[in-house]
Amino acid sequence: MQGYILNINRVKDEDLIVTLLTQNRLITLYRFYGARHGNINLGYKLDFEAIHSPKSSISMLRNVLHLGDKWMANPKRFFIWQHFIKLLYTHLKDIEELDSFYFDLLDTMNHKFEKQNPIRVVVESYIALLEYEGRLHDDFICFSCENIVTQNLVLTRSFLPAHYECIFGTSLNIEKIMELFLTGSTLNLDDDEVNILWKILQEGI
Ligand SMILES: [Zn+2]
Repeated sequence: MQGYILNINRVKDEDLIVTLLTQNRLITLYRFYGARHGNINLGYKLDFEAIHSPKSSISMLRNVLHLGDKWMANPKRFFIWQHFIKLLYTHLKDIEELDSFYFDLLDTMNHKFEKQNPIRVVVESYIALLEYEGRLHDDFICFSCENIVTQNLVLTRSFLPAHYECIFGTSLNIEKIMELFLTGSTLNLDDDEVNILWKILQEGI
């Protein structure tokens, strides 16, 4: 089985409780500490086995192989990746069965992280997630006053649109954000604009 590590909790000295996102579900497994075990880290993609033990209610994480990509050795990229993984875990943690969308999204991001600007990859992937979940507010109705936003757009958590006059925030170019919502591409946004979106995203997905 393959999965991405979305969360790790340390228990009893060096043992770990590990939550993995697989193709169709979130699974939580127990990993005994052992000197012969390789290190595992948040965000790693693993090939593994879940071994059921009659003595325990939680299955064991065994036969772990880290399916690492080269970009993971780049600390800056890996930090951004782990940050997004934590946000995704908070978003999904109470769901057991999932559509493969989320696993496939991480696979796609994983491949793109090798060559593309990781912050742009995260922002574009988040647009895909919002669209998939039916939460992309591309009608540009201000969530505060319920009138349409035509200029001085501010985006808040979950990229909810609002007027600059209605809510505190950094004003964004509405034409560019409309294009982002329509195409899912950050191509016409400059790095400062992409960084503003990444900051909003960090408030929670
Ligand atoms: Zn408003």
